[in-house]
Amino acid sequence: MWVKAFDILLDRMKEDGFPFNRLVCISGAGQQHGSVYWKKGTKEVLKNLTEKASLHEQLQNGFSIPDSPIWMDASTTKNCRELEDKVGGPLKLAEITGSRGFERYTGNQIMKISQTRPSEYEITERISLVSSFAASLLIGDYAPIDLSDGSGMNLLDITTKKWSPKCLQACGSDLSSKLGDMVSSKQIIGSVSQFLIGRYNFNPSCKVVAFTGDNPASLAGVAPKLGDAIISLGSSDTVFSWLSRQTAELEGHIFVNPIDSDTYMSLVCFKNGSLTRERIKNECAEGSWDKFSDYLKNTPMGNNGNIGIYFDVMEIQPLAQGIFHFNKSNEKVSSFPHDVEVRAVIESQMIARKMYMEMRGMHVGPDTRILATGGASLNKAILQVISDVFGAPVFVSDIPNSAALGSCYRAKHGLDGCEFTDVVRSHPQPECVAVPAEGARQIYKEMTVRYKALEKTLANNSRVDSRT
Ligand code: ADP
Repeated sequence: MWVKAFDILLDRMKEDGFPFNRLVCISGAGQQHGSVYWKKGTKEVLKNLTEKASLHEQLQNGFSIPDSPIWMDASTTKNCRELEDKVGGPLKLAEITGSRGFERYTGNQIMKISQTRPSEYEITERISLVSSFAASLLIGDYAPIDLSDGSGMNLLDITTKKWSPKCLQACGSDLSSKLGDMVSSKQIIGSVSQFLIGRYNFNPSCKVVAFTGDNPASLAGVAPKLGDAIISLGSSDTVFSWLSRQTAELEGHIFVNPIDSDTYMSLVCFKNGSLTRERIKNECAEGSWDKFSDYLKNTPMGNNGNIGIYFDVMEIQPLAQGIFHFNKSNEKVSSFPHDVEVRAVIESQMIARKMYMEMRGMHVGPDTRILATGGASLNKAILQVISDVFGAPVFVSDIPNSAALGSCYRAKHGLDGCEFTDVVRSHPQPECVAVPAEGARQIYKEMTVRYKALEKTLANNSRVDSRT
């Protein structure tokens, strides 16, 4: 499906008369953690693609595992514990790789495949991340994994910037050769393939810079300053920032920074983001974002003490699932009126975003710039709640597609070999769209204490449930 999507994209651009011959460099981004399993012999197929047929026709039999596991897969808890045990515990794994064992992380996914599908694993020639897979289609060869997206695998030693031998050994035999070498995120990894030159009239000298994960690319796309807090409101929500050094923590993640591989970025991801907001928009606001926004504007900060917790799918932190409604006395109630439900989902999501961001060592004060990106950053009413909950001003750039813009910046960064600050010199200054309302600080301070306690009970209960 992904290969066919790539064909369709290029075909449509060609139909539109896109000037492929004017491109000088391409980079890109892929959803983090997903993995692609190329079958033995496919390297040769990639190198000898004929322009007379589409990629999906030629790569039909190119994969040892036809369906790629992606970030939403949470089936590898056993593998996570096994990996943590083998390297000396969860904190040790976090110290080496930037994260304790997480279900979606690629090393744990690979371990599951190597244990449960040994014959498919055996005939796998190369394992790519979604990002390096897409870059492979451009260069007509296996593309290396970059350090930043590679940090989302529980396999990379983020201090030495090399695969961790202990982690590799725990996750699968001969894994080092199946993963190939790593490169810095600004490395030029080759030129576009003969296939692209012949079929789409790409410029033969067009270079390709390593692709990275969508989150690292988003960081580049907002052209951040040290100390900014970035909140990305996509299908899942993520909060991240630029750190000068790494610290081992059990919650959240540290990645090698895509802009400067001597520094790091921290990231906390929440699975229940836009898709949950969208469900509530459909159920409570007749499918209209305008109506959803009106409900937000017309309900009071603090929602008269009502708190809802919405984990439609198993959340990452805490590991809990379900929808819960509590009144101002912390008693469970079966439902909320529609307008209360709308405010409850946004307030509880944003309280959790701030709470975990601070646990990960990112301090948020009244002078912190909150840079909002992603689909829901178009919604000013949601941004006002973020500002109230975080107690800090919220900024947005005109360009919501920060991962795509960040990929363009990274292409230029790699091609020109200049400082990143020079690349983003003409980046539009983000506009301040919300400042905290009076009284917000006290309301959300109290609400956060209650939210924390309620969330803790749910997480404890769900741990009991999963054991029984
Ligand atoms: P991703 O790239 O992770 O798929 P995007 O950053 O493109 O996601 O965001 C897509 C999401 O944006 C959709 O799921 C939708 O719910 C949300 N979205 C789009 N418009 C609005 C809006 N006006 N208000 C709130 N959310 C919105």
